[in-house]
Amino acid sequence: MSMIGLLISILIPSLKQSMDLAADTVCKHNLREIGHCLELYRTENDGWLPTAVRPKLEIEAVGERDPWFLKLYPTYLPDPMILTCPEDPFRYRMARAGVRMNDPFVSEYASYGINRFIVSSGDGFVAEVDRYQPTKPHDTILVADLGPDNAVGGPKVEGVVGPIRNASLLLWDDGFDPMTGYRSRPWLTKRHRRGMNVLTLAGGVREARTLEVMRREINHYYDRCSAGGCTFCNDLHLAHYSFARDHLYWWTGTTPSE
Ligand SMILES: [Zn+2]
Ligand SMILES: [Zn+2]
Repeated sequence: MSMIGLLISILIPSLKQSMDLAADTVCKHNLREIGHCLELYRTENDGWLPTAVRPKLEIEAVGERDPWFLKLYPTYLPDPMILTCPEDPFRYRMARAGVRMNDPFVSEYASYGINRFIVSSGDGFVAEVDRYQPTKPHDTILVADLGPDNAVGGPKVEGVVGPIRNASLLLWDDGFDPMTGYRSRPWLTKRHRRGMNVLTLAGGVREARTLEVMRREINHYYDRCSAGGCTFCNDLHLAHYSFARDHLYWWTGTTPSE
Protein backbone atom coordinates (compact mmCIF):
# COMPACT_ATOMS: atom_id res chain seq x y z
CA MET A 1 0.00 0.00 0.00
CA SER A 2 1.27 3.45 -0.86
CA MET A 3 1.89 5.99 1.85
CA ILE A 4 -1.11 8.04 0.67
CA GLY A 5 -3.30 4.96 0.54
CA LEU A 6 -2.23 4.04 4.04
CA LEU A 7 -2.94 7.54 5.31
CA ILE A 8 -6.39 7.54 3.71
CA SER A 9 -7.23 4.13 5.12
CA ILE A 10 -6.39 5.44 8.58
CA LEU A 11 -7.87 8.92 8.29
CA ILE A 12 -11.20 8.29 6.55
CA PRO A 13 -12.67 5.88 9.13
CA SER A 14 -11.51 8.04 12.04
CA LEU A 15 -12.88 11.14 10.33
CA LYS A 16 -16.21 9.38 9.90
CA GLN A 17 -16.07 8.35 13.53
CA SER A 18 -15.44 11.85 14.79
CA MET A 19 -18.25 13.21 12.60
CA ASP A 20 -20.64 10.65 14.08
CA LEU A 21 -19.45 11.68 17.52
CA ALA A 22 -20.06 15.38 16.79
CA ALA A 23 -23.55 14.64 15.49
CA ASP A 24 -24.30 12.59 18.57
CA THR A 25 -23.11 15.45 20.81
CA VAL A 26 -25.32 17.97 18.99
CA CYS A 27 -28.30 15.64 19.30
CA LYS A 28 -27.77 15.23 23.05
CA HIS A 29 -27.35 18.97 23.42
CA ASN A 30 -30.65 19.50 21.56
CA LEU A 31 -32.41 17.11 23.92
CA ARG A 32 -31.03 18.89 26.99
CA GLU A 33 -32.24 22.21 25.57
CA ILE A 34 -35.67 20.73 24.86
CA GLY A 35 -35.66 19.54 28.48
CA HIS A 36 -35.03 23.10 29.68
CA CYS A 37 -37.85 24.44 27.48
CA LEU A 38 -40.27 21.82 28.83
CA GLU A 39 -39.21 22.50 32.41
CA LEU A 40 -39.79 26.23 31.94
CA TYR A 41 -43.18 25.53 30.40
CA ARG A 42 -44.05 23.25 33.31
CA THR A 43 -43.01 25.84 35.90
CA GLU A 44 -45.18 28.51 34.32
CA ASN A 45 -48.16 26.23 33.68
CA ASP A 46 -48.95 24.88 37.15
CA GLY A 47 -46.77 21.81 36.68
CA TRP A 48 -48.32 20.66 33.42
CA LEU A 49 -46.40 19.47 30.41
CA PRO A 50 -47.94 20.49 27.08
CA THR A 51 -50.75 18.01 26.40
CA ALA A 52 -51.41 16.47 23.02
CA VAL A 53 -55.13 16.29 23.47
CA ARG A 54 -57.44 17.98 21.07
CA PRO A 55 -61.10 17.21 20.42
CA LYS A 56 -61.42 14.73 17.56
CA LEU A 57 -63.98 16.91 15.79
CA GLU A 58 -61.60 19.80 15.84
CA ILE A 59 -58.83 17.66 14.35
CA GLU A 60 -61.14 16.56 11.56
CA ALA A 61 -62.29 20.12 10.98
CA VAL A 62 -58.87 21.71 10.66
CA GLY A 63 -57.14 18.66 9.18
CA GLU A 64 -54.05 19.09 11.25
CA ARG A 65 -52.66 18.02 14.55
CA ASP A 66 -51.36 19.95 17.43
CA PRO A 67 -47.71 19.23 18.09
CA TRP A 68 -46.39 19.71 21.61
CA PHE A 69 -43.55 21.90 20.42
CA LEU A 70 -45.89 24.52 18.97
CA LYS A 71 -47.12 25.05 22.53
CA LEU A 72 -43.54 25.90 23.46
CA TYR A 73 -42.81 28.05 20.43
CA PRO A 74 -41.72 30.83 20.52
CA THR A 75 -42.07 31.75 24.22
CA TYR A 76 -40.28 28.73 25.68
CA LEU A 77 -38.60 27.43 22.57
CA PRO A 78 -37.41 30.36 20.49
CA ASP A 79 -35.23 28.33 18.13
CA PRO A 80 -37.12 25.49 16.37
CA MET A 81 -33.82 24.21 14.95
CA ILE A 82 -33.12 22.41 18.24
CA LEU A 83 -35.87 20.03 17.04
CA THR A 84 -33.50 18.83 14.34
CA CYS A 85 -31.11 15.93 14.91
CA PRO A 86 -28.05 16.18 12.64
CA GLU A 87 -28.35 12.45 11.93
CA ASP A 88 -31.94 12.79 10.72
CA PRO A 89 -31.90 12.24 6.93
CA PHE A 90 -34.92 14.60 6.71
CA ARG A 91 -33.43 17.28 8.94
CA TYR A 92 -33.94 19.95 6.26
CA ARG A 93 -37.71 19.80 6.71
CA MET A 94 -37.75 21.68 10.00
CA ALA A 95 -35.39 24.31 8.61
CA ARG A 96 -37.85 24.90 5.81
CA ALA A 97 -40.88 24.90 8.08
CA GLY A 98 -39.04 27.12 10.59
CA VAL A 99 -39.58 29.99 8.23
CA ARG A 100 -43.29 29.41 8.56
CA MET A 101 -44.23 27.44 11.67
CA ASN A 102 -47.87 27.42 10.59
CA ASP A 103 -47.04 24.85 7.89
CA PRO A 104 -49.90 22.35 8.36
CA PHE A 105 -47.43 19.45 8.37
CA VAL A 106 -44.88 20.95 10.74
CA SER A 107 -45.81 18.29 13.33
CA GLU A 108 -44.31 15.64 11.01
CA TYR A 109 -40.96 17.38 10.58
CA ALA A 110 -39.31 17.28 14.01
CA SER A 111 -36.52 14.77 14.63
CA TYR A 112 -37.84 14.17 18.14
CA GLY A 113 -41.05 12.92 19.63
CA ILE A 114 -42.59 13.21 23.07
CA ASN A 115 -43.89 10.26 25.12
CA ARG A 116 -47.46 9.97 23.96
CA PHE A 117 -48.62 8.20 27.08
CA ILE A 118 -47.55 11.12 29.24
CA VAL A 119 -49.04 13.86 27.09
CA SER A 120 -52.29 12.19 26.07
CA SER A 121 -53.37 9.46 28.48
CA GLY A 122 -56.44 9.93 30.63
CA ASP A 123 -57.51 12.90 28.52
CA GLY A 124 -54.09 14.38 29.13
CA PHE A 125 -54.20 14.34 32.91
CA VAL A 126 -50.92 12.43 33.22
CA ALA A 127 -49.28 15.54 31.76
CA GLU A 128 -49.56 16.94 35.26
CA VAL A 129 -46.69 14.57 35.95
CA ASP A 130 -45.89 15.27 39.59
CA ARG A 131 -49.44 14.52 40.61
CA TYR A 132 -49.15 10.93 39.37
CA GLN A 133 -45.84 10.41 41.09
CA PRO A 134 -43.62 8.55 38.67
CA THR A 135 -41.29 6.47 40.83
CA LYS A 136 -38.45 6.63 38.32
CA PRO A 137 -38.27 10.10 36.72
CA HIS A 138 -34.57 9.55 35.97
CA ASP A 139 -35.47 6.44 33.97
CA THR A 140 -38.67 7.67 32.30
CA ILE A 141 -38.67 8.45 28.59
CA LEU A 142 -39.90 11.98 27.91
CA VAL A 143 -38.49 12.93 24.49
CA ALA A 144 -36.40 10.82 22.09
CA ASP A 145 -35.13 10.52 18.53
CA LEU A 146 -38.13 9.78 16.33
CA GLY A 147 -38.22 7.91 13.04
CA PRO A 148 -38.93 6.43 10.62
CA ASP A 149 -35.95 7.65 8.66
CA ASN A 150 -37.22 6.64 5.24
CA ALA A 151 -40.58 6.83 3.55
CA VAL A 152 -40.52 3.37 1.95
CA GLY A 153 -43.76 1.50 2.47
CA GLY A 154 -45.24 4.16 4.70
CA PRO A 155 -48.43 6.10 4.22
CA LYS A 156 -48.19 8.92 1.72
CA VAL A 157 -49.41 12.33 2.66
CA GLU A 158 -49.94 14.96 0.02
CA GLY A 159 -47.61 17.86 0.72
CA VAL A 160 -45.17 15.90 2.89
CA VAL A 161 -41.84 14.83 1.39
CA GLY A 162 -40.42 11.90 3.36
CA PRO A 163 -41.93 9.88 6.19
CA ILE A 164 -44.70 11.11 8.43
CA ARG A 165 -43.82 10.96 12.10
CA ASN A 166 -47.08 10.60 13.92
CA ALA A 167 -47.41 14.24 14.88
CA SER A 168 -44.09 14.06 16.77
CA LEU A 169 -45.43 11.58 19.32
CA LEU A 170 -43.54 8.50 20.56
CA LEU A 171 -45.96 5.60 20.52
CA TRP A 172 -45.44 2.89 23.09
CA ASP A 173 -46.47 0.17 20.64
CA ASP A 174 -45.46 -0.68 17.11
CA GLY A 175 -47.23 2.10 15.38
CA PHE A 176 -50.97 1.78 15.46
CA ASP A 177 -52.29 5.29 15.30
CA PRO A 178 -55.84 5.61 16.64
CA MET A 179 -56.08 9.09 15.15
CA THR A 180 -55.77 7.85 11.61
CA GLY A 181 -56.67 4.21 12.05
CA TYR A 182 -53.85 2.72 10.04
CA ARG A 183 -50.92 0.70 11.19
CA SER A 184 -47.86 2.56 10.05
CA ARG A 185 -44.26 1.49 10.28
CA PRO A 186 -42.35 1.54 13.56
CA TRP A 187 -41.05 4.93 14.52
CA LEU A 188 -37.99 3.41 16.18
CA THR A 189 -34.73 4.65 14.71
CA LYS A 190 -31.15 3.48 14.86
CA ARG A 191 -29.88 6.75 13.48
CA HIS A 192 -27.12 6.91 16.08
CA ARG A 193 -25.93 3.41 15.13
CA ARG A 194 -26.54 1.78 18.53
CA GLY A 195 -29.93 3.46 18.66
CA MET A 196 -31.48 6.68 19.83
CA ASN A 197 -30.89 9.41 22.38
CA VAL A 198 -33.45 9.92 25.11
CA LEU A 199 -34.32 12.86 27.36
CA THR A 200 -35.69 11.60 30.67
CA LEU A 201 -38.42 13.15 32.77
CA ALA A 202 -35.72 14.29 35.21
CA GLY A 203 -33.88 16.20 32.46
CA GLY A 204 -30.95 13.83 31.88
CA VAL A 205 -29.96 12.51 28.46
CA ARG A 206 -29.38 8.80 27.94
CA GLU A 207 -28.80 6.34 25.13
CA ALA A 208 -31.18 3.53 24.27
CA ARG A 209 -30.25 0.58 22.09
CA THR A 210 -32.97 0.02 19.51
CA LEU A 211 -31.76 -2.72 17.16
CA GLU A 212 -32.81 -5.63 19.32
CA VAL A 213 -36.05 -3.88 20.25
CA MET A 214 -36.87 -3.37 16.57
CA ARG A 215 -36.35 -7.07 15.81
CA ARG A 216 -38.26 -8.43 18.79
CA GLU A 217 -41.98 -8.93 18.80
CA ILE A 218 -43.81 -6.64 21.17
CA ASN A 219 -45.02 -8.28 24.38
CA HIS A 220 -47.54 -7.36 27.00
CA TYR A 221 -45.16 -8.30 29.75
CA TYR A 222 -41.43 -8.06 30.25
CA ASP A 223 -39.76 -9.44 33.37
CA ARG A 224 -37.05 -6.83 33.45
CA CYS A 225 -39.52 -4.09 32.68
CA SER A 226 -41.84 -5.18 35.46
CA ALA A 227 -38.96 -5.33 37.92
CA GLY A 228 -38.16 -1.73 36.96
CA GLY A 229 -41.64 -0.65 38.01
CA CYS A 230 -43.18 -0.40 34.53
CA THR A 231 -46.83 0.61 34.88
CA PHE A 232 -47.64 -0.90 31.48
CA CYS A 233 -46.41 -4.34 32.52
CA ASN A 234 -47.65 -4.28 36.09
CA ASP A 235 -51.00 -2.52 35.93
CA LEU A 236 -52.19 -1.68 32.45
CA HIS A 237 -51.13 -4.78 30.46
CA LEU A 238 -50.37 -2.63 27.45
CA ALA A 239 -48.30 -4.12 24.65
CA HIS A 240 -45.29 -1.88 24.32
CA TYR A 241 -41.74 -1.47 23.20
CA SER A 242 -39.45 -2.22 26.10
CA PHE A 243 -36.20 -0.39 26.74
CA ALA A 244 -35.78 -1.98 30.15
CA ARG A 245 -32.42 -3.37 29.02
CA ASP A 246 -31.20 0.23 29.22
CA HIS A 247 -33.27 0.96 32.33
CA LEU A 248 -35.69 3.22 30.49
CA TYR A 249 -39.47 3.05 30.95
CA TRP A 250 -42.60 4.62 29.52
CA TRP A 251 -44.29 5.27 32.82
CA THR A 252 -43.69 4.22 36.41
CA GLY A 253 -46.48 5.95 38.27
CA THR A 254 -50.19 5.82 38.88
CA THR A 255 -52.71 6.77 36.21
CA PRO A 256 -55.94 8.77 36.45
CA SER A 257 -58.04 5.58 36.21
CA GLU A 258 -56.42 3.94 39.24
ZN1 LIG B 1 -30.42 12.19 17.34
ZN1 LIG C 1 -43.18 -2.72 30.66
